[in-house]
Amino acid sequence: MNPEKLLKQGILIHPEELTEGMLALLKGSGLNTLGLHPVGGKNAAESLKRLLDLQEDPAFREKLTRVRSFGMQVEYEMHALRFLVPASLFSAHPDWFREDENGRRTPDHNICASNAEALHFLQERAALLAKKLPSDSGRYYFWVDDVPHGACHCEKCRGLTPSDQALILYHAILHGVRQADPRAKLCYLAYQETMAPPENVRPEEGIFLEFAPMFRDTLTPLHDPASETNRRFLEKIPPLLGCFGREDAAVLEYWMDNSLFSGWKKPPKELTINEETIREDIAFYRRAGFSHIGSFGCYLSDDYQKLYGQPPVITYGKCFTKTE
Ligand SMILES: [Zn+2]
Repeated sequence: MNPEKLLKQGILIHPEELTEGMLALLKGSGLNTLGLHPVGGKNAAESLKRLLDLQEDPAFREKLTRVRSFGMQVEYEMHALRFLVPASLFSAHPDWFREDENGRRTPDHNICASNAEALHFLQERAALLAKKLPSDSGRYYFWVDDVPHGACHCEKCRGLTPSDQALILYHAILHGVRQADPRAKLCYLAYQETMAPPENVRPEEGIFLEFAPMFRDTLTPLHDPASETNRRFLEKIPPLLGCFGREDAAVLEYWMDNSLFSGWKKPPKELTINEETIREDIAFYRRAGFSHIGSFGCYLSDDYQKLYGQPPVITYGKCFTKTE
């Protein structure tokens, strides 16, 4: 009766949210992938460092072992660029960093996509990070920085779109990750200014699409013709699949993203989901050819549970088995 399980039926939480309460929910959820997502934004490099510290903690590693005992794979998804090429290198290598709209090199976000030395450094750092955060699935999600405008405007990069530049960085990261894990694949995150497919760079073998429709309306289906907001995201999908192909295509949804709904501020608000919308969206994504589907599920841990009781993690997991 149940349709074939998707390769990925996942939820993405902050590492510190992997508490006993969350473990109990995951165990009964039917989900098969747990993504750990250090907080993004301007402090993403520091939150990624905290995750690496946690990975050294035997108690945390024991929790990951329990997650795996539930039949779940553990993956890591995060904005990693500033961690991989730290801003502290700016004074020694200003030309590694991006040029802003005013022609000034800046270590604020990302790097220059045309600087071979910077790309080589990025590759080597990605290899080290993949060694520290090996992915159970072989799928890696080391994203560029979490900003709406982070492209380089130098003379060499000027003719490249933000998506072209992101894909160049992802290729360098992929080469590094494969030094650590030869079977690795790496996502291209279609999100904010990288939502359009690259125009001047073709994805190499090993790159897969991850479509993340941030700020969509999560209470009505993506294909609801009455939703102008959702239509803007919906129309991005065919060109993205045309460029990256359907193989391994992934969705990172926001249905369960209580950090977004709480304005990224604690205390968390009470999460409202629409099961029917989630089911319809999952069915839609399957038909479109996506085989990996996950949602952010941040701000649903102990502090949430104290305020509102159980968050709908199990309800969310059931949405995958109810779709046709
Ligand atoms: Zn540049």
